[in-house]
Amino acid sequence: MSALPICHFPHSLLKQPTQFVARVDEKVQKLIDAMVKTMRHHARCVGLAAPQVGSPLRVAVMDGTGHPKVAASHGLLILVNPQIDHTEGIVVQREGCLSIPDLTANVRRATRVRLKAFDQFGAAREWWLEGFEAIIAQHEVDHLDGKLFLDRVANVSTDIFHRKSYS
Ligand SMILES: [Zn+2]
Repeated sequence: MSALPICHFPHSLLKQPTQFVARVDEKVQKLIDAMVKTMRHHARCVGLAAPQVGSPLRVAVMDGTGHPKVAASHGLLILVNPQIDHTEGIVVQREGCLSIPDLTANVRRATRVRLKAFDQFGAAREWWLEGFEAIIAQHEVDHLDGKLFLDRVANVSTDIFHRKSYS
């Protein structure tokens, strides 16, 4: 199985809320496997949501391991039907997205979140995430709600930047 192609802005799937997964069956597990592989395929990619690879399902994967901004990592998280039901704090930090390769932006996020989801086995899971991991989770849950980081920019004339390089 090779990495899946990435949908780029303004692809219509990126602007639509996703469908909740009724059951984590073989089809969903195959999607998860392909998404993990696709995330790993892109250097510095720390999260991926199903609409970015052409699926309308409420599924995301994330892994902040080894990223310079991540102090403590929970490793690979598989997120089926994820919800953030508690947030604390405010931070403004630069974000990018595989689906919007030419831009980055300053985005306001919570510093700590409680994330609930089902894993690849259909088991209910819950994590408290902080710092950059919390930001990744908010970015991916936004994708599943049909929102992009550009939708969260406070001032489009001062907070959006053209990417100079991808390194
Ligand atoms: Zn993204």
